[in-house]
Amino acid sequence: MPEPVLLVDVGPFGAAVARHLLRLRRDVVRAATEDVLSSTKLALRMIVLAAWRPVVAQCTELDIVSRKRGCPFVPAVMEGSTLSIGPVIIPGKNGCWHCWNRRRDQHEPFAAERSAVSGFYDRCPDAGPFGYLDAVSLLAASRLSSTIDVLDRDAIEGGELWQMKILTREVTGGHVIGVDACPHCGLKRPLASRTYRALEAHFTGTRGLCT
Ligand SMILES: [Zn+2]
Repeated sequence: MPEPVLLVDVGPFGAAVARHLLRLRRDVVRAATEDVLSSTKLALRMIVLAAWRPVVAQCTELDIVSRKRGCPFVPAVMEGSTLSIGPVIIPGKNGCWHCWNRRRDQHEPFAAERSAVSGFYDRCPDAGPFGYLDAVSLLAASRLSSTIDVLDRDAIEGGELWQMKILTREVTGGHVIGVDACPHCGLKRPLASRTYRALEAHFTGTRGLCT
């Protein structure tokens, strides 16, 4: 039996996802965030989180554990009527948690409002809508299970994000692209070396193309 997948669930929707995922798989173990954070000896091969709303602070802490332990981290989050599975974070590969949040802030038209709401929920963990559709929690568990399988087969690049708008059933997918100078992923090259200087030096004085 391989080391287990640790599942952290938050809120009623997260608990429902956990129930379904535990029925689907025998290699998933439910764990409290505090246990994942405090124990360096907890056996695990990856961390998944299922939450009824964005839990940014919690995800950030779990992401730190994921990097320390060198294991993937996959959040499944309901935000309004959008279900997100991912990004699939694989330590050392492109598209980390840090970059995901930076990219969201970069492209989200209401980033400040979203950040304020997220901050409120982080401070008031019992607030938020309790209702959910069980079919959606089953969908999230099923999608998480297939993500665990592709991670086990090493058949996924990292940074993958799958989203569904529950009201329209519109599905989108994509990859998180690392931001400049990310300390965790990306090109891992100093900013100063990511220029055309080498190209300029190559042509300077050779054919007089650059002066
Ligand atoms: Zn990154």
